[in-house]
Amino acid sequence: MVCCGLRFSSPPRNHGAGTPVRVRSLRCSSLPGPRPPARRISRRPPQRTALSSASLAGHYCVKCGTPLTTRVIEGRELEACPNDDFVLWRDPKVAAAVVVEHGGGIVVGRRAIEPAYGLWCLPGGFVNHDEDPKDAAIRECMEEIGAHVELTELLGLYHVAKTTASSIVGIAFRGRVVDGEEIQAGPEMLELGVFRPDELPPLAFPSHREVLKMYEAAAAGSALRPSRE
Ligand SMILES: [Zn+2]
Repeated sequence: MVCCGLRFSSPPRNHGAGTPVRVRSLRCSSLPGPRPPARRISRRPPQRTALSSASLAGHYCVKCGTPLTTRVIEGRELEACPNDDFVLWRDPKVAAAVVVEHGGGIVVGRRAIEPAYGLWCLPGGFVNHDEDPKDAAIRECMEEIGAHVELTELLGLYHVAKTTASSIVGIAFRGRVVDGEEIQAGPEMLELGVFRPDELPPLAFPSHREVLKMYEAAAAGSALRPSRE
């Protein structure tokens, strides 16, 4: 299949909009790129929160301006106001990731930003506070792979547990590039590639690898379902 290794590079900076450069690599296995990071994100079940002292310092009450103090509330160590009922609840951020089908393969991009500069990932990103997650997924695809994407399936949820920053609740979608659209690397991507699922380069984030497993299960399920006449 020609989809394997078809790569779409980002246009040069300050060069205006242009036709994407397409380079067909010899073999997927010959693709350059760093190995995925050895660090793995802990997926321990939720426990009584033990925030670092650094994360529990320096916040003030939004009602009265008093420095918050540490208090155990509902079994969790939280910052709260000693004068009133304000509690600084720590909420997760919401993100979306999309497995985009295109030309017989899946679109992935090599990151031009940290974290994981130079490594491959799925298109996706954070959901804005006033944004429907589906709209966020489509917007992130437009920003990162330069094409309109139609979401075709909700694959599932994923969770990225963090201790020094907000944890992430992720929503995984399956989608496809709208007919007639061309993909092009956005400013946050060094290049794009379209690979068959079994020939994808290593992905940077464990959560994206988890999303791919959801996709493989969904694709296998849809392949097994009898087609409707
Ligand atoms: Zn207060």
